[in-house]
Amino acid sequence: MKTYRDLAPSPRTIMTPGPVEVDPRVLRAMSYPILGQFDPEFTALMNETMEMLRQLFKTVNEWAFPVDGTSRAGIEAVLVGLIEPGAKVLVPIYGRFGHLLTEIAKRCGAEVVTLEKEWGTVFTTEEIVNAIKENQPHVVALVHGETSTGRMQPLEGIGQACREVNALFVVDAVATIGGIEVATDRLLIDAVIGGTQKCLSVPAGMAPITYNKRVEAKLLSRKKVERGLLLADEDDPLLRPIQSNYLDLSQLQDYWSPARLNHHTEATSMLYALREGLRLVLEEGLEARFARHREHEGALIAGLEAMGLRLYGDPACKMTVVTCIEIPSGVDGESVRSMLLDHYGIEIASSFGPLKGKIWRIGTMGYSCSKRNVLLTLGALEAVLLRHGHQLEAGRALQAAMDVYKM
Ligand SMILES: *Cc1c(COP(=O)(O)O)cnc(C)c1O
Repeated sequence: MKTYRDLAPSPRTIMTPGPVEVDPRVLRAMSYPILGQFDPEFTALMNETMEMLRQLFKTVNEWAFPVDGTSRAGIEAVLVGLIEPGAKVLVPIYGRFGHLLTEIAKRCGAEVVTLEKEWGTVFTTEEIVNAIKENQPHVVALVHGETSTGRMQPLEGIGQACREVNALFVVDAVATIGGIEVATDRLLIDAVIGGTQKCLSVPAGMAPITYNKRVEAKLLSRKKVERGLLLADEDDPLLRPIQSNYLDLSQLQDYWSPARLNHHTEATSMLYALREGLRLVLEEGLEARFARHREHEGALIAGLEAMGLRLYGDPACKMTVVTCIEIPSGVDGESVRSMLLDHYGIEIASSFGPLKGKIWRIGTMGYSCSKRNVLLTLGALEAVLLRHGHQLEAGRALQAAMDVYKM
């Protein structure tokens, strides 16, 4: 009979834009006994998680809870709830995840209007605001931090423009939440989707979201229709229930409300993990956490530049938690990545589409964002680049990073 070895994942230093390393406290939380989904002890943990999510999203929204599934499930839940077939959706695209928003919106039956920006840059506020005025969309969906290109779109002024045409403003903050400020209320964002396996340093499998009363009103208008469906004229294009059952926020919010109406079974161990991850974030303090991410980014950049490497993309809109590097000509990028993983246990990322084979991406997110990891990565990358015949002045990278750390 075939036997299978004991599970024994190798220890890794994960320097990608997710999934990243997880604090042992979060791993421990996942090993605790299961509670029933209506057990008052469990629902109390759900309520605490909602409270902590409000702080993370900087919002007073009543609704802030995780959707079960990876971040994409959170994006899909928000979009399928807000987009009725035929609705107009504006998506400004500056990397891979803008295309994902477009793809999901189209599957919801939207008429999607896209704006495209060359990868490596972002839009000016004016470009987006003008497109909102011109197109008068029902929904504007925008990525906050594009991990594919390492760029961050400034969000100031866009929420205001959405209010003026009565559009709902949806932001994918999957890669920024917990590492860079996401000021939901101040920026007038109607719905925000976060991620767990990036700057929150919780395993993949949940998507924390928040949304306000404007979004809730839309969800409830579609819910009423579902209940009265038997009476409705099925051909009436205005009477369209939310097309997903599993991702129906109008039902999910009932389970997260005091009514506790049953939907699907809550993912117990993931909820423990998220709660512990949020506790860690709040113990550190949001502003201190953002500052930590900036500090390690600074040391990483200093080291890479001291190696003579060139950073990819417009520095004015660089995302703190992802650093993109142009692969030097003559160097096989995949061979470098393999040597780092196989011999140093360090993982860095490549990229997608037009950037495949052209850049490496190094994430400095959450628990992976530490002095130890940055120094290890710089030292290993230098050694591996020398092994690949790349000319550089040995030793300078770590000295530059140590200067930043004032060691
Ligand atoms: C990682 C990422 C996603 C997708 O997240 P999954 O958890 O893989 O579903 C979406 N948007 C952005 C900006 C991301 O970085």
